[in-house]
Amino acid sequence: MTDRAKDRARGTARETTPTTTPETGDGTRAVRAGLPAPVKNEPALPGPVFAAHFHLPGDVTGPYTYGRDTNPTWTLLEQAIGELEAPGREGVDTVVFASGMAAVSAVLFSQARAGDTVVLPEDGYQALPLVRDQLEAYGIRVRTAPTGGDGQLAALDGARLLWIETPSNPGLDVCDVRRLADAARAGGTLVAVDNTLATPLGQRPLELGADFSVASGTKGLTGHGDVLLGYVVCRDAQLAAGIRRWRKIIGAIPGPMEAWLAHRSLATLQLRVQRQWANASAVAEALADRAEVAALRYPGLVSDPSHATASRQMRGYGSVVSFTLPDRAFAERFLAALHLVEDATSFGGVRSTAERRGRWGGDAVPEGFIRFSAGAEDTEDLVADVLRALDAAVADRV
Ligand code: PLP
Repeated sequence: MTDRAKDRARGTARETTPTTTPETGDGTRAVRAGLPAPVKNEPALPGPVFAAHFHLPGDVTGPYTYGRDTNPTWTLLEQAIGELEAPGREGVDTVVFASGMAAVSAVLFSQARAGDTVVLPEDGYQALPLVRDQLEAYGIRVRTAPTGGDGQLAALDGARLLWIETPSNPGLDVCDVRRLADAARAGGTLVAVDNTLATPLGQRPLELGADFSVASGTKGLTGHGDVLLGYVVCRDAQLAAGIRRWRKIIGAIPGPMEAWLAHRSLATLQLRVQRQWANASAVAEALADRAEVAALRYPGLVSDPSHATASRQMRGYGSVVSFTLPDRAFAERFLAALHLVEDATSFGGVRSTAERRGRWGGDAVPEGFIRFSAGAEDTEDLVADVLRALDAAVADRV
């Protein structure tokens, strides 16, 4: 075996050769993404490389030197995520992180300086207000505007960076990414899209004009509720260099085992999300007929205010459904009566979860607000469980 072939087998060669094209189907791309060229007697996906440092005689050359800077297991995962987020697109570069928040912070804190303005969504992930406080503590001005109705358009003037979260968590509003990105670019504003909820199979922000697609891989991307991970996909190598530099400074790196588990999970991404999206849609339709359910949101429902925009820019409507039950006690009875749905936070996993979002205190939602994440159970079982739990919550009303 040549040295190059040995490197490939270990996954230590920097480049992998994509075997898919932009026309390849999502399922094929998911099972092949980031795989090195096959080498006789070696596994298809090389195992995790556990190394704090690498042999480095003489000058500092070659891709792998120190484990905070680079790791071959990340290289393969980064290649895979890049292939899924931006199939066939030249120059795209991906950087993986220890968590979604590490990825979010990497973009915001590496790109904005004191005196700059950043536009955040008013209704995004509940850690964004903490991020806002920190940005302001560093002298960065923050404007917020709602996701719905493309409200952030009015806040763009002179901004350094626009942060979009669509669909937003937990309200599931959707904004027109291309419209916002065009306006931002015209004013010299960088655009980052949090693609956590949609996953790269549901939405491709770079194709819609974003400079960065950022996500928590903890959710649908890895899908088993056992890994924390984040990533940033950058439009070009220059932007990526800034993100890599930030990762080196802050050290928020994924462990090789997590990175490998994530890559392994990608092979089933299409299978998982297709079932989960179908389940979310079926649950939303079943809930739409129930008198106890108010403010039902799912971008896939034809009646949803986000439906038209979501249909234009999304390739799937996601696994999350949100709705409001009459009050806190009703919502707690509903959650306790579910058998197939775990009362847990997070979303996007193969086991359905639901929670009363108000229990955290961070989101502007009513006490009876439920964020429901559809898993990969059989659709009939899941819908029956949800309807039965609703009946139980009604029957136990005092
Ligand atoms: N972005 C969104 C939309 C999220 O929902 C979350 C977590 O729920 C994050 C980012 C942060 O991800 P992590 O928990 O992996 O840090």
